This record gives sequence, C-alpha cells and structure tokens, in this order.
Amino acid sequence: MKIGFIGLGNMGAPMAANLVAAGHDVTGHDIHAAMPDGVVAAISAAGAAKDADVVITMLPNGAILRSVAEELIPAMKKGAVLCDCSTVDVESARVVAEQAAEAGVLAIDAPVSGGIGGAAAGTLTFMAGGSDAAFAIVRPLFDIMGQKAVHCGPSGNGQAAKICNNMILGVTMIATCEAFALADKLGLDRQKMFDVVSTSSGYSWTMNAYCPAPGVGPQSPADNDYKPGFAAELMLKDLRLSQQAAEAADADTPMGQLAALLYESFVEREDGKGMDFSAMLPRFEKRHRG
Ligand code: NAD
Repeated sequence: MKIGFIGLGNMGAPMAANLVAAGHDVTGHDIHAAMPDGVVAAISAAGAAKDADVVITMLPNGAILRSVAEELIPAMKKGAVLCDCSTVDVESARVVAEQAAEAGVLAIDAPVSGGIGGAAAGTLTFMAGGSDAAFAIVRPLFDIMGQKAVHCGPSGNGQAAKICNNMILGVTMIATCEAFALADKLGLDRQKMFDVVSTSSGYSWTMNAYCPAPGVGPQSPADNDYKPGFAAELMLKDLRLSQQAAEAADADTPMGQLAALLYESFVEREDGKGMDFSAMLPRFEKRHRG
C-alpha cells in the first residue's frame, strides 16, 4: 500500500518503521522529527497524503489534528482512508470524520495502548471508530503495527474506549498507591501486601502487572527510579480528555474527576513531570492526612 504518515515522534517513528519493514511504501512528514530509515520525506502533510491509499496521523492533540486534517483531506484521493492514531478528544475525532466524509474520504479514529515499547515491537492494541469499510482497509496495517484491533463502533468510539480505559487505569493506580502507603503506616510489609492483594479481590493490572512498589511483583518502572514507562503527564492528558467528554455527555464521574485533579497537582506542582504515573506511590509516602 502507499501510506502517508504524519507525526513521526516517539510513537509514530517506530510505527512507520514497522510498515516499511513489512514492505509498504511510506511517505512521511513531521515539522521537527527526522524520518526513520526507509520513510521518504515529504515537505508538507499534503505532499505525504496526495497519492496515498491510507494516511496515518500520530500527533500530540486534537487542535493539531484538526489543523493538519484541514490541509490533508483536500489533498487525499477519494476512497482513501484517513486513520488517526493520536489520542485526542472525541469531538475532534468526530469533526475530522465529518470533514473527511464531505470530501469522499473514509475516516477512522484508532488510538493505541501499549506505549513506545509496543510501538517498537509491533504489539500495540488499536481501538477503532469508523465504518466497516474503513476498518477493513486499515486492518492489515493494524496487524503489522499491533497485536490486537477492536472495532468499537462509529467515528469517535475508538477515542471513547481509550479514555474510558485510561480513566479506570488512573483511578486504579491511585487506589493501589494510596493502599501501599497506608499499609506502610500500618507496619504491613510491601511484599506481604502484594502476595495478598495480587491474589485477592483488590487485584488489578496496576498491582499485578505494573506494581508501583520497587522490588515487589514483576519488573516495572518502579524498579527503574520511576522513569517512564507511561509518563504522569500523559496520564493527566488522558484524564483531562475523559473529564472533557464526561462534561459534554453529562456523565457523573467523581473518581475520574478526582484522579485528574491529583495527577494535575502531581505534574504541575509536585515534580511529577517526567516521572512514571506509578510515582504516585512515593508521593503518597511523603504525605500526611488532611
Ligand atoms: P511526540 O510528541 O513524540 O510526537 C508527535 C510528533 O508530531 C512530533 O514529532 C511533532 O514534531 C509532530 N507534529 C506536531 N505538530 C505537527 C504538524 N502540524 N505537522 C506534522 N507533524 C507535527 O508524541 P508521541 O509520544 O509520539 O505521542 C503521539 C500521540 O500518541 C499522542 O496523541 C499521545 O497521547 C499518543 N500516545 C502516546 C503514548 C506514549 O507512550 N508516548 C501511548 C499511547 C498514545
């Protein structure tokens, strides 16, 4: 396939490299980042898009996606697919899909989980929103860049799945960290806490697979001085998107709201920026009630 790839940063570069390695013809554009080996550079987003069967975007946020899409869509062939893999607000995903439809272009929102490691290894999970026709065209590319792709429904539903998942993740990480900090103050050994909780009803991905306590459970960023992994500021971004969506949909999400406020304090006022999101544990360790 002829593929245009816009946004070759931490995630986009390894994803594009995997498409090249699988034999696809990839033309890329980025305002700063260098092209990975085998990706032909275009001087503009429109240049990367014009002959493409599929254009993939992997950009920082919804505002940037909207401005890039305005340039891209008119340059694309009719029947080609615009596949946005960035994490953006549901509203931007739906607006871009409408613009694409008006121009005879198919659109799919397909945010990912799996992080930089998953992007490099080709083991991402894609959660996709868009038509069956668009999903069928892009699916073989998801199979190269990832290990799982779930078609979640119409446009915007991929982003909806992503922010609901990450709202659970943020809330669960905070619950796991505050419980470890309480256990410390009660004199309960962390390994014993892990042995009990990881096999009891308090178990979760954050406890069992990504334990925030160093030296306990499987290897995780806690064992590497809390270097990310999944950075606290990216968790804050996703929690804010969840609260923006909850506001727009009139959904009551008190735990998600509090998780967003806690990660906001951590990132903006408590040196959490640049730390893994599991560094909430040392944050709670230092604090007192009230
Ligand atoms: P990044 O900042 O490393 O990459 C974004 C790239 O977009 C940069 O290279 C930047 O130069 C480029 N860019 C910005 N504006 C542009 C424009 N107008 N035209 C062309 N290129 C432009 O970010 P990332 O970590 O690769 O994340 C990309 C997206 O993936 C984000 O939406 C993020 O939330 C999501 N995501 C990231 C992770 C992760 O672990 N890093 C995990 C899941 C999802």
